[in-house]
Amino acid sequence: MDILALNCGSSSLKYQLFDWKKKEVIAKGLVERVTIGDSFIVHEVPGRETYREEYECPDHQVAINLIIKTLTDPVHGVVKDMKQISAVGHRVVHGGEKFTCSVLIDDTVLNAIKEVQHLAPLHNPPNIAGIEAAKAVLPDAPHIAIFDTAFHQTMPQHAYTYALPYEWYEKYGVRRYGFHGTSVAYVGRRAAELLGKPFEQANLIVLHLGNGASVTAVGNGRSIDTSMGMTPLEGLIMGTRCGDLDPDVPFYLMRHTALSADQTEELLFHGSGLRGLAGVGDMRELHALAQQGNGNAELALQMTAYRLKKYIGAYSAALGRVDAIVFTAGIGENDPDLRARACGELNNLGIVLDHERNATPAATARDIAAAASPVRILVIPTDEEWEIARATRVCLQR
Ligand code: ADP
Repeated sequence: MDILALNCGSSSLKYQLFDWKKKEVIAKGLVERVTIGDSFIVHEVPGRETYREEYECPDHQVAINLIIKTLTDPVHGVVKDMKQISAVGHRVVHGGEKFTCSVLIDDTVLNAIKEVQHLAPLHNPPNIAGIEAAKAVLPDAPHIAIFDTAFHQTMPQHAYTYALPYEWYEKYGVRRYGFHGTSVAYVGRRAAELLGKPFEQANLIVLHLGNGASVTAVGNGRSIDTSMGMTPLEGLIMGTRCGDLDPDVPFYLMRHTALSADQTEELLFHGSGLRGLAGVGDMRELHALAQQGNGNAELALQMTAYRLKKYIGAYSAALGRVDAIVFTAGIGENDPDLRARACGELNNLGIVLDHERNATPAATARDIAAAASPVRILVIPTDEEWEIARATRVCLQR
């Protein structure tokens, strides 16, 4: 069966078409700059030259139509008839507490996703737009929602509850939800394979380090705690987000400056983190600045690594036994310097890096721990679309 996995962001749309029987990618690609102008599609088919086409996509419907047009194109396409696509899996960032696994999208589910969109105002609206657009083009295929928050619904109450008036949770849903679950589920399973044990017995600390970044403690294959909270602002220091902060700081700022609540929130989400400290939100640019002797860039690197170290320590305590630390996403997969800073001097926790293995670039999953390290250190490229397809199949089999 062929499964189309769609990962719909505010201005980009990633897709992969899988032959799930053979577990092979038939085609994959990306539409960029949707809604902002100068949009284009990059379409890859194994064994063929990458195809790129400029195509104006003022909205997600046009972008989905472009993907379908490309997949069925007589020259660049891979399917003759859209009926060949047996199911479509959609990534949805926030499912609130309603969804603990992937679900078939009907009107009730779509309404439930809309009901929680205030919890992820940047992410859920484009996810919804993608679902509606894909349903319009492929009305006969089952459409399945895969929620980033679902993987974290196994967290115990003592991990997800904030120490606030309890009625705020009951009335307003104020609690830790966690994000990046689709990625954590994928790399977690891959890590268990590398460790040679069932995922259900694996204890992992998964560091998803991209523009957004989070740490998840996985105990026996289930999320038991995660650093992002009700929103993706809490936890690690990120490209433009502050992560953990004294909760009184925003109130102090609003009282002592002319900043409104919206402006303060905007600064915490988009003007803080690496950008706030050193003026750049991109990790590669930050390294370049630090190498030029920029003190704030070096400070930002030290703070980022220190925050990571604190979470590794905290989650080691929460898990009791750790089989592996897993690095993934743009920074986790490609930044040996940050990995070394985060894992350095953690011998007391049984975490010992092999510096040569860490420094050797590779595009595949690998173990970079010293041979004698009791805890393995794994670098695993994430593949959210694969996890979307897997969860789609699981949902159809239930
Ligand atoms: P997103 O959360 O948007 O999906 P990615 O997972 O693509 O983000 O990660 C983007 C981050 O990865 C950026 O900060 C980028 O600088 C960083 N990155 C990518 N390649 C490297 C590299 N070789 N060294 C350090 N950082 C890198």
